[in-house]
Amino acid sequence: MLIEQPPRLLRLLYPRALWRVENAEQAVFLTFDDGPIPEVTPWVLDVLDHYGVRATFFMVGDNIRKHPEEFREVVRRGHTIGNHTFHHISGHIHGDYHFTTDVEECQQIIDRGIRSVLPDFRRGDAELPLFRPPHGWMKRKQYHYVAERYRVIMWDLVTRDYSRNLNAKDVVCNVRRYARNGSIITFHDSLKSIGKLRTALPAAIEWLRAEGYTFRTL
Ligand SMILES: [Zn+2]
Repeated sequence: MLIEQPPRLLRLLYPRALWRVENAEQAVFLTFDDGPIPEVTPWVLDVLDHYGVRATFFMVGDNIRKHPEEFREVVRRGHTIGNHTFHHISGHIHGDYHFTTDVEECQQIIDRGIRSVLPDFRRGDAELPLFRPPHGWMKRKQYHYVAERYRVIMWDLVTRDYSRNLNAKDVVCNVRRYARNGSIITFHDSLKSIGKLRTALPAAIEWLRAEGYTFRTL
């Protein structure tokens, strides 16, 4: 429970971050962390296309560097991209300068990559890029730094698709148990998750759809 649906107290640690979207009647927000990788991301894109779902991908800069074609395909298919640091580093074990530099390095490769697909891409004046901290932790100063420059997106529901102790059914159960209006739902397009996602992702989408939810991007 503590992991799947973060309690209020934890949410207060980062008061300017978004944990759940208010006033999102019958809508949920699917997010995928840690890609893009060729073994998983293209498959996820095909599943999302099959159901007509748009999602938000929090990407690792180094994976974008290694797999630029997979990155571009996510952009081409109309999904939203967020920053998940360049090297997937945790704020609590890295210094502030190291952490914020890694965040900026990731944003540079994201913006360059988006422009290689959409040359006219520009963010509106008030529109901040999206950021999600790896493992969900940042030190105080790091949080203040990113909250000034990014829209910090946490989550309302972690499916724990990465866990070795869970199977695909457990992942779907987590979605059924904790999804609610405005939920930001976290999956991973990673090697740890793919074994479960092959059945859990279509099943979760079908269940959410049958419950009347629509799917929106952040
Ligand atoms: Zn991550």
